[in-house]
Amino acid sequence: MEVLKNLPYELTIDVVITELKMRHISSQIKEIVKDVLKKATDIARPKAVYEQFYIDEISENRVVVNGIEFKSHILSKNVENVGKVFPYVVTAGQELEKIDVDEGDMFSSYILDLIKELILSKARESFEKILFKNVNIEKGSYMSPGSLNDWPISEQKKLFDLLGDVEKAIGVKLLPTFIMEPAKTVSGIYFPAEFDFDSCMLCLRENCPSRKAAFNPALYKEYTGKKV
Ligand code: SF4
Repeated sequence: MEVLKNLPYELTIDVVITELKMRHISSQIKEIVKDVLKKATDIARPKAVYEQFYIDEISENRVVVNGIEFKSHILSKNVENVGKVFPYVVTAGQELEKIDVDEGDMFSSYILDLIKELILSKARESFEKILFKNVNIEKGSYMSPGSLNDWPISEQKKLFDLLGDVEKAIGVKLLPTFIMEPAKTVSGIYFPAEFDFDSCMLCLRENCPSRKAAFNPALYKEYTGKKV
């Protein structure tokens, strides 16, 4: 398992303020953002683990990697011609969990949560660049257990089994509910891809605040054989 212990990221106060999407930013709000951002960036150490594996077996609804069987039709379709896959976990890091903001101070807590989310997002961007360079691919996409009904979150356990001792390597624990701790952590399988696949393109959930790509009816039909 490859371990990346201090993923580079850059997060400015302007980026945080833009993400707040507020019409008016008072000097008081700016000060709170500045203070929480400093606390976070002083200690944040985003990390990642990944590994590369050849696919052992593949059929319509399953992919076997290093003896571990993942059950997903969409994953199978995505990796049918690629040969290799790259399971990963990226985390904003448990250091951020030690930051104290007054629990009754809802606004500071909200800012802290947003900053953690942005650090994770920036860390994923730098992880992606490092991964593609290290495994020598030009383009890739990923899928995560639990993002679509087709690949249930319970498969998270198999992903962690495939990678090894993730907790020891980067402090990310998989709970019996299959949720990862710290919460600002993402996991999944990268694969070489000609186009930018995103699970959101196949997701029917309406009004999802985390949607990253528009629903694509043609792709949905191609992957599931169903019309919407
Ligand atoms: S639309 Fe929302 S729920 Fe659906 S895959 Fe994207 S982020 Fe997940």
